[in-house]
Amino acid sequence: MKKIIALILSLFLLMTFVYATSTAYAPNTLLYHADGSTKQVDPQFLDEHLQNGWYLYPVVTIYAVGDVTSVVYTADVHEHLQNGWFLDPVTEIYAPGGRKSVVYTQDVETHLANGWYLSTKDFPKKEKAVALTYDDGPSKFTNRILDCLERYGAKATFFVVGNSVYAYPDALLRAHTLGMEIGNHTMTHPRLTSVSSSEVLSQINKNANVVEKVTGTRPTLVRPPYGSYTQGVINTAGMPFILWSIDTLDWKTRNAQKTVDAVLSKVKDGDIILMHDLYLPTAEATEIIVPRLIDMGFDLVSVSELAERKGITLETKAYSKIK
Ligand code: ZN
Repeated sequence: MKKIIALILSLFLLMTFVYATSTAYAPNTLLYHADGSTKQVDPQFLDEHLQNGWYLYPVVTIYAVGDVTSVVYTADVHEHLQNGWFLDPVTEIYAPGGRKSVVYTQDVETHLANGWYLSTKDFPKKEKAVALTYDDGPSKFTNRILDCLERYGAKATFFVVGNSVYAYPDALLRAHTLGMEIGNHTMTHPRLTSVSSSEVLSQINKNANVVEKVTGTRPTLVRPPYGSYTQGVINTAGMPFILWSIDTLDWKTRNAQKTVDAVLSKVKDGDIILMHDLYLPTAEATEIIVPRLIDMGFDLVSVSELAERKGITLETKAYSKIK
């Protein structure tokens, strides 16, 4: 028994010795912090340091729009700077022509003094305005159109089909978040003059429910599929019906240049322009139309804002233009 106790005791002493020498002679590790400081750390405290803002290699704090910061390895900074990150805090701001830009936060005041804007709401209102409208989406091309509208601080109205919202809820939410108006283009796109009035009501309500589920807001405007309506249908729906004054026929030509020409050849103040966010050529046309219309002195606004600007309260009837 004594032997066993002696053995256990000596084993214990040996382990203590091994542990003591291993910790005593292990070299400290050099760690880096994003604030530029460095620190030698005993390896036994390494993990807790790595979990609390210390790194094994030099790091830098970098910035993106919207008070977003990140800490990256210094070796990776260059790659991040090429992908929308900055070494100093930045702010989104709009150039005098309306184009969205990113500038260093410290330079914002200087830009504002030189005619830049912090928000599209601050833009001086132009005398002329038109409403771009996109039907039948959302689709895989909606985001490309939104990219363009966002870049120029432009607004448009998307008359969405309820069933398509199920397929592309993210695109709808982004449109709403960017301040686009979301209109009602029914649940399954029937010709409203060919269905019962209870079906009209159901088509409108189902669409509104789906849109509300994604955006939190119910549409207040209807675009009837195929432009088919009667005053009876409008009364059943109980909302203004928004037609158009410029039909680009983008669905038929599937040609960006023809869509551009259809708009630019006849656009006037108060026009409502019909397109469909279902086709790549329509997205390409949008990228030409938006900056051109801005250059031509038009504000690009939602249908509701167009009405507001013209001092018109939209009623339960059909509108093909608003002036
Ligand atoms: Zn349609």
